[in-house]
Amino acid sequence: MTQPTNEYNEDVRYRPDDDCPLFSESLEEHIVGITRGTLPNHGTFCGNCYTPLSPDTAKCPHCGALTDGSRRPVETIPDEVIAMLRDQRKTESSIVNSFAYAGFIIAICFALWLILTVPYLRPESGHLITATVVFSLVLIIGGRTLAGVLGGYYGDHYAYDRARKRLRTRWAQWSAQR
Ligand SMILES: [Zn+2]
Repeated sequence: MTQPTNEYNEDVRYRPDDDCPLFSESLEEHIVGITRGTLPNHGTFCGNCYTPLSPDTAKCPHCGALTDGSRRPVETIPDEVIAMLRDQRKTESSIVNSFAYAGFIIAICFALWLILTVPYLRPESGHLITATVVFSLVLIIGGRTLAGVLGGYYGDHYAYDRARKRLRTRWAQWSAQR
């Protein structure tokens, strides 16, 4: 199913073992353009995966569907497909945000634990300014780092898988009756 040419190697993240052909990079870009109002929802799109096609293409570069096969090219991207991308992005960003917040909460707990357990920093030691500086630094540096690591890396991977799973289910339901 994969026949990436140099021309289409932006589609490398497509997973052939995944039975959902959404979304090719170029379809995603086109939908973003439609949402922003910079591109019309009109053109030639693969009848199977809705990847934008040039009018004389015989075969979809993304899913391999033949343009004279059972799913002829269409002129507009269905609303449901646009909604699926919106849902995928929403799912991804809310998971990434939750992971980032978890990173900040861990940093807050660690900063509190430090100033309550290190004798020099404990409130009754009288070193309030030093304790405040340490607390703030741990919060700012630790919070940013943990939020970045948890949100950016783990959140991203987990979020992609979760959003992709939702998308597969929705696609399977919808494509069965389109
Ligand atoms: Zn296609």
